[in-house]
Amino acid sequence: MYSFTYTRAKTLAEARDLIAKDADAKLLSGGMTLIPTLKQRLAAPSQLVDISQLTELRGIAVKGDRLEIGAAMQHVEVSRSADVKQKIPALAHLASQIGDPQVRNRGTIGGSVANNDPVADYPGAVVGLGATIKTSQREIAADDFFKGVFETALNAGEIVTGFSFPVPKRAVYAKFPHPVSGYAMAGSFVAETASGVRVAITGAGTGVFRWKEAEAALSKNFSVAALKGLSMPAKGLSNDLHATAEYRANLVEVMTRRAVASITGEK
Ligand SMILES: Cc1cc2nc3c(=O)[nH]c(=O)nc-3n(C[C@H](O)[C@H](O)[C@H](O)COP(=O)(O)OP(=O)(O)OC[C@H]3O[C@@H](n4cnc5c(N)ncnc54)[C@H](O)[C@@H]3O)c2cc1C
Repeated sequence: MYSFTYTRAKTLAEARDLIAKDADAKLLSGGMTLIPTLKQRLAAPSQLVDISQLTELRGIAVKGDRLEIGAAMQHVEVSRSADVKQKIPALAHLASQIGDPQVRNRGTIGGSVANNDPVADYPGAVVGLGATIKTSQREIAADDFFKGVFETALNAGEIVTGFSFPVPKRAVYAKFPHPVSGYAMAGSFVAETASGVRVAITGAGTGVFRWKEAEAALSKNFSVAALKGLSMPAKGLSNDLHATAEYRANLVEVMTRRAVASITGEK
């Protein structure tokens, strides 16, 4: 690890100031991704600005037909929240499947989404539900947020402060986890929302994406049968030592069928 200074911000305003004044500073939330990166000397920030304790980034609340979650909420808090379980059980279930207990006890929803690892789970829910990402500067629609491998629409120094999820009519996340890390080899988040059916795929490619053909088919007939005949093209999906692109394409189809079946009760 290279040396750096550590500052625990007391307010969001202080964190914004610190990060704005120092182009080489980095935000620290749960540290589950950032700390290993530092240990391997893959990053050399001048300063870590710890935002994990900021009250402005904490809390879970139901507001009308939306569920609001602060960026610093840990995976375990999201998975155990009575509000999340009641309003969007698929989101609580997703959070409960991330990594292992240590990762769930430290890692945060804000850190995960800001990091935009192509194999992370939360991007599936954020896009699958059509959430809004709230930042220190603005609000960003999920469809405009994720830009590529570890890339997002965030500007330098922009802090994710929270998320606003529209409560869906029904939703399920089906994931095929990597047996070692728990990261998604392929995950399909299927939701029937007030604005239509959304199917978000994570883990299989260079970032989360919507499977529009499956959305169109399910919009006409929300059933496993409607997915028959649809195939996910392997082109563009990840091809590495863990799985070929063809294998991942098949996983996407299977996970999407499983998600729909678990909503409709079909076998
Ligand atoms: C062994 C292991 C297994 C894992 N398994 C899974 C898994 O199955 N599924 C899964 O989805 N994830 C998995 N993860 C990743 C985990 O979910 C991390 O918690 C997540 O990637 C990062 O969240 P964090 O709060 O730890 O962020 P940090 O590591 O603190 O930060 C990550 C990056 O985001 C930036 N950042 C943090 N917070 C903000 C913010 N509010 N605004 C703007 N930028 C911010 C930081 O500057 C940094 O660049 C795993 C991690 C480990 C170590």
